[in-house]
Amino acid sequence: TAKVLFFRAELGRAAWKLFHTTFARFPDKPTAEESSALNAYIHLFQRLYPCGECAGHFRTILDKFPPQVSSRSAAAAWGCHVHNEVNKSLKKEIFDCSNIGDFYDCGCADGEAPEEG
Ligand code: FAD
Repeated sequence: TAKVLFFRAELGRAAWKLFHTTFARFPDKPTAEESSALNAYIHLFQRLYPCGECAGHFRTILDKFPPQVSSRSAAAAWGCHVHNEVNKSLKKEIFDCSNIGDFYDCGCADGEAPEEG
């Protein structure tokens, strides 16, 4: 129904925002433990994603493109790529991944003052 599709789109936008912002804040030089945490997070995100059809679809993408967790830039580029895989299958525009770092820079790094408003 229309309500289900609307909810799915809203959920998708919220989830992608969280997903890409998480990668944009991942360390440049992660420890082995940090990399393993991100890898587990991505797999659990897929497993628990609250749209069954989307989760099933995303699983085949993860099987084909395993998470890249060796650095911030690798994770951000990987996240952009898998989102584009979903975009492709939904016949949406392909996003230009070359500015991914700036696009999801939340300005919320440790020690950065929160902005007013
Ligand atoms: P979204 O795709 O939600 O993107 C939000 C914003 O992110 C865009 O406006 C753009 O600014 C930016 N963006 C776009 N592409 C990229 C990129 N490659 N990298 C970084 N930023 C980008 N919907 C279904 O109908 N069927 C599915 O099987 C399905 N599977 C999904 C699987 C996952 C894991 C997720 C998170 C969502 C899935 N969705 C699925 C939802 C779908 O991807 C969209 O979120 C939804 O259709 C709303 O699309 P949108 O056009 O508003 O933009």
